[in-house]
Amino acid sequence: MQDCLFCKIIAGELPSTKIYEDDYVYAFEDIDKQAPVHVVVVPKNHYKNITEVKDSSQVGKIFDAINKIVEQLDVKNGFRVVCNTGEDGGQTVEHLHFHLMAGRKFGWPAG
Ligand code: AMP
Ligand code: ZN
Repeated sequence: MQDCLFCKIIAGELPSTKIYEDDYVYAFEDIDKQAPVHVVVVPKNHYKNITEVKDSSQVGKIFDAINKIVEQLDVKNGFRVVCNTGEDGGQTVEHLHFHLMAGRKFGWPAG
């Protein structure tokens, strides 16, 4: 997708701090961290959000990557994975992504 921020990051056309990469997934530090660890985990294929993912094996690739990143970052006390979807869901970048956050205690449903 030509005008997609995350496609540009994946292609290396915009800078990012890479945390993890494989054939299907790219993960980088969020520019506006909401926790000591805040990684954006992105499928290399462009999907606007969850509703466009018709091949569920793609989600498996993301979960595999998240498990590897969690191991790599050694977040023993737990972590939070968030997928904001659509306007009411608070999604601001229209390329499917999962926020992986750790390093502090999170409240629920907010905080
Ligand atoms: P969301 O609001 O759920 O769509 O998440 C988009 C996330 O992308 C936000 O947490 C932003 O801080 C993050 N973000 C936006 N631009 C960049 C960038 N250039 N590099 C890293 N993270 C970014
Ligand atoms: Zn994209």
